[in-house]
Amino acid sequence: MTTNHPAIDKILISKDTLQKRVQELAKEISQDYKNTCPVFIGVLKGSVMFLADLMKNTAVDHSVDFLCPSSYAGGTKSTGIVRLLLDLRESIEGKDVLLVEDIVDTGLTMNYLLENLRTRRPRSLEICTLLDKSSCRKVSVPIRYRGFEIPNEFVVGYGLDYRELYRNLPYIGVMKPPKAEKNK
Ligand code: 5GP
Repeated sequence: MTTNHPAIDKILISKDTLQKRVQELAKEISQDYKNTCPVFIGVLKGSVMFLADLMKNTAVDHSVDFLCPSSYAGGTKSTGIVRLLLDLRESIEGKDVLLVEDIVDTGLTMNYLLENLRTRRPRSLEICTLLDKSSCRKVSVPIRYRGFEIPNEFVVGYGLDYRELYRNLPYIGVMKPPKAEKNK
């Protein structure tokens, strides 16, 4: 699928396909958490659109909190260095936690977040990611809910950015090679 957007090479996952899959995930989550009141932890900033759509389609009562790790510092390659720029507002001790992420690539960010959150003694801790680039994995991550498996390409849209841009696109698109990196 093509688009007129000057920065996007092609549409990988259309708006309709995204919405349909998010509804399926929300149905599964609603079923699995029907006897509890989970807390959805959105991993900022990339998960915001996915989290909002997931929340709207989830039938069980749940609370929401946010974490903001940093590892990419504005580029397209993982540095492997994870810092926590924003921490949770509420304690998760004894709670059923669902970590909601935009994409798991090397797995380094998720691995760090899991280790960090486990020390806070939640009752359960599961991962829901919209996208999975499993071919890029450096550390194994137990993903409970997965939207789409995607190839090793840098994608933007539906919350995912390149240098803070393109989060607003309603689809997942593959970027044209960034000019600065193309000239290197
Ligand atoms: P990991 O630590 O698994 O390598 O990377 C996780 C984070 O890297 C994601 O939360 C996301 O912010 C960023 N990331 C990895 N791959 C992509 C990609 O293709 N596009 C964008 N926009 N971000 C990515």
